[in-house]
Amino acid sequence: MKNMKSTSDLLPGRRRFMRNILFGAFSASLASARHLSGDEKQSYRLKKGQMFYRRLGRTNLLISEISLGGSPLPTMPIIYQAIERGVNYIDSSHAYSNGNSERKIGKVLKEFGRDNVYVATKFHLRGNWSEESIISSVNGSLRRLDTDYMDVCLIHGVADEKHLTDERVVGAFEKLKKQGKYRFRGLSCHTNHHKVVKEAVDCGYYDMIQLAFNVFDIQEGEDAEEVYDDYLGQSGIRRLLTLAKSKDVGINAMKILKVAGKRQNLEKHRTGGTTIYQAMLKWVLENKNIASAVIEMLTWEQLEEDLGVIGKSLSEMERKNLFRYVAENSEDYCHMCGECQANCPSRIKTTSILRYLTYYESYEKIGMAKKAYSRLKQAQTAVACQDCGECERVCPYGVSIRKRIREAHTVLSC
Ligand code: SF4
Ligand code: SF4
Repeated sequence: MKNMKSTSDLLPGRRRFMRNILFGAFSASLASARHLSGDEKQSYRLKKGQMFYRRLGRTNLLISEISLGGSPLPTMPIIYQAIERGVNYIDSSHAYSNGNSERKIGKVLKEFGRDNVYVATKFHLRGNWSEESIISSVNGSLRRLDTDYMDVCLIHGVADEKHLTDERVVGAFEKLKKQGKYRFRGLSCHTNHHKVVKEAVDCGYYDMIQLAFNVFDIQEGEDAEEVYDDYLGQSGIRRLLTLAKSKDVGINAMKILKVAGKRQNLEKHRTGGTTIYQAMLKWVLENKNIASAVIEMLTWEQLEEDLGVIGKSLSEMERKNLFRYVAENSEDYCHMCGECQANCPSRIKTTSILRYLTYYESYEKIGMAKKAYSRLKQAQTAVACQDCGECERVCPYGVSIRKRIREAHTVLSC
């Protein structure tokens, strides 16, 4: 592609020279982005170099509109190129790539300087978790990152809003804060948004939220803003974003490029030169309540595709085609609300299966999807389905669950 550097441009030998060039441009860009006037801080985005930056709520961090998702991270040359093009925020977790995502970020911090890249990473509340297990997880992340502190420390995938103010969580956060191990607190949320996000904002303890936010989650309509008539019912994801904004809690969007069905089938949904992924990304970025879109850019092509939308708005034709695509494919798109799994009389792990199918189809993480599926017992898969249809009766979004879990079994069990 026209502006794309070949991998050899960043290989050892030329690496130090290139690093100096990249760092010079990047550092100048970021340094000036950090010293904004009061007026500039009020505007929702600021252009520096090729990138736009937005304020991540009360953290006051100015982060690139597109951030690098770390599950997994791409090769180092692609990471360097992303940073050269203005990306200054990398999102990770102790769990991504068995810790290798954080180890890679550690190398990036050494290469570009600790103050020039913002790092967010996460800990889980799994199994027999405790205040000590949280502290231990964060310390493990810092060791792999090879740094003294993380910019944002997040709870990974909060599904139960009560965890947000649990004394073990708060106790761990307070101790870690006193030790200077993180600057800002946050959480990521894939499901149960209406309760988790509301509680995270209302309790006043969290500075930012990373939220699954995808064009399939919203029903576009004339009064969508007024009546919150979206797929999250009364809660309304847009209402949640407005609520977060009103309390100055920063919001990053994730799962933006989750699609319905196979990635390869999407070519026909192009609008001129704009792919369906670019249209989805433009649609998210036009929301002023979102600070940054966290996305994985695993190949040079994905990097070009994603960064190619910076500064470009969604045209009316692209919007029309995007919503036609959403309407035609919504029965294959799972919103991860968990209703079907909670109501299946055969205790089939429908929501989990559909998530693994997304890994396989949307993100092409085939090995990861098959491995996750192989951990299920046969009695939890489509094999045990009694065809009662209860899951589809309770699904608020009309997903063809029986068809999809059978498709999942076909591709994931081989
Ligand atoms: S149709 Fe199958 S998956 Fe759905 S509720 Fe019945 S047994 Fe469970
Ligand atoms: S299939 Fe429907 S009910 Fe089941 S998790 Fe997805 S959206 Fe919810």
